[in-house]
Amino acid sequence: GCGAREVADLLRAGAATIAEHRAELIDLDRPIGDSDHGENLNRGFTAVVSTLDTAVPETPGGVLKIAATTLISKVGGAAGPLYGTAFLRAATALGDRAELDAEAVFTALRAGLRGVVARGKAVVGDATMVDALSPAVDAAEAAVGDGIAAVLAAAADAADKGADSTVPLVARKGRASYLGERGVGHLDPGARSTALLLRAFAEAAR
Ligand code: ADP
Ligand code: MG
Ligand code: MG
Repeated sequence: GCGAREVADLLRAGAATIAEHRAELIDLDRPIGDSDHGENLNRGFTAVVSTLDTAVPETPGGVLKIAATTLISKVGGAAGPLYGTAFLRAATALGDRAELDAEAVFTALRAGLRGVVARGKAVVGDATMVDALSPAVDAAEAAVGDGIAAVLAAAADAADKGADSTVPLVARKGRASYLGERGVGHLDPGARSTALLLRAFAEAAR
């Protein structure tokens, strides 16, 4: 089953990936932003793990809510509120159910996307994390019949492609949008971190 403990383990895997790719995310944010994306996210996910090490809530939604509030308070910048909102909406969508099935995992991902879009107003093609998360949700939906691991693997594969699709785009949201055409040719750091997180979740759920 996929209860609170398993969801906490997914977040731990996500935190490990962010720590491992901290320098890469900083490097991606340098030419089109302010070089803090890897540092911000690593600080936030390190804090999420510390909190989960003291006590794991009873439900998956409770775990995601801890992640949300911690990310909102520790990450800052654009990505903190966006990721925080994603996790908070996912938590709310799950309510107090104790065990997740593939449909619930898809529902949580979709709620997360909706939260990011409500907060940041980006659409696919604006060269943001939405370019990774939106196709991931579509792919997740198509894999619901195949179980949780398949849902997350499909989401991760689609997010990788979606992140890569930001390279030739002119960014229309966030700091990178200040560069206009000069921002073309760069992988969006937030799209990359979304793809990394989904890959970590997929690997941890196998
Ligand atoms: P900041 O730009 O404040 O330094 P980060 O560097 O942590 O914040 O995060 C930058 C990332 O946030 C971008 O790469 C992009 O993916 C994402 N982002 C910024 N603005 C938006 C938005 N309005 N909607 C969705 N994602 C956004
Ligand atoms: Mg930045
Ligand atoms: Mg910043």
